[in-house]
Amino acid sequence: MMQRIYLSPPHMSGEEMKYIQEAFDTNWIAPLGPHVDAFEKEVACYTGAKGAVALSAGTAAVHLALKYLGVQQGDYVFCSSLTFSGTCNPIVYEKAIPVFIDAEPESWNMSPAALEAAFVSFKKRGKLPKAVIIVNLYGQSADYGKLLPICEHYGVPVIEDAAESLGATYKGKQTGTFGKMGIFSFNGNKIITTSGGGMVVSDDLDALKKIKFWATQAREPARHYEHKEIGYNYRMSNIAAAIGRGQIRALDDRIQRKKEIFDTYRKAFSNISEIKIMPVAEYGTPNYWLTVVILDQQSKVKPDNIITKFEENNIESRPVWKPMHLQPVFQECEYYPHTEDVSADLFHKGVCLPSGTAMSGEDQAVIIEKFKSCF
Ligand SMILES: *Cc1c(COP(=O)(O)O)cnc(C)c1O
Repeated sequence: MMQRIYLSPPHMSGEEMKYIQEAFDTNWIAPLGPHVDAFEKEVACYTGAKGAVALSAGTAAVHLALKYLGVQQGDYVFCSSLTFSGTCNPIVYEKAIPVFIDAEPESWNMSPAALEAAFVSFKKRGKLPKAVIIVNLYGQSADYGKLLPICEHYGVPVIEDAAESLGATYKGKQTGTFGKMGIFSFNGNKIITTSGGGMVVSDDLDALKKIKFWATQAREPARHYEHKEIGYNYRMSNIAAAIGRGQIRALDDRIQRKKEIFDTYRKAFSNISEIKIMPVAEYGTPNYWLTVVILDQQSKVKPDNIITKFEENNIESRPVWKPMHLQPVFQECEYYPHTEDVSADLFHKGVCLPSGTAMSGEDQAVIIEKFKSCF
């Protein structure tokens, strides 16, 4: 049996050890340290944000961004439904109420029509949301040219969940920089990794200062440990940041390789009439984090058939994210569909293909052959 092919495994650049060694040599093993500061600067510089705070996870980043926006018990937060639970769990940590917004077919990201419908409905009730979390799915920017004016019209701030989209752009501007705050994830499966970690970026340096304070147990500046607020142990370690520094140097290469993988799949499948590859909206450049295909309604082949076929050959693949409005834990939450339920449809018809940047051409050829053999 071949060696297992994973969906999107870590891909080290070779530079990581140099930074880790530096941390060891200077005994900066303890949390924080110079690599954390440097990695924050590098991510801010790459994205064009004024500042950044490195955290233990993307989920922690969403949490503190919500907290900064004053989200509390009984508040509503609008949120993309087609995403990973890390996007919306923090809403519930603060005892606020998620309201899920469907995707649009053009980009699979938040539907401007559904967002507008949700705002109209909440405005009528006299209760606007405290924040809107917009996700950039599978490495492609949401349509900010349409979404931001709606949020601005109602005066509600945006948190951009760019966990999957580091390096992707919208009209030339980096994702993560469109909302009041943007968040990134460096989990092991993301385009670059710190083994586990996240970051908040923003142009609001006061906001970042407050987030950093909460993330280090809300320690007041005093010789002893003084606390006036509840804090969190959410900071990234110096060792994790060392890995991140080695990784970010390879980010542009990773994006280029992800695009090659996407193009290879697209060409190879162009004559299978029963499938469509994920759309690429003309307004930006994705980072092509994962390549996803959608099976036609009429196709006899279902995502399960393909995933099982891959599994028999030791190849990992996955369905599209199961939308949050279909999750048992969120079944009480309100949901605003596009017109038809786009995110549910994508979940039922989609398969995420192995898209690791270290994958060889031979491996991808095997994947393509197994995929084709299903039809
Ligand atoms: C991975 C991911 C997160 C969570 O990031 P972690 O670092 O795993 O906490 C949040 N949102 C989206 C869209 C993600 O893909």
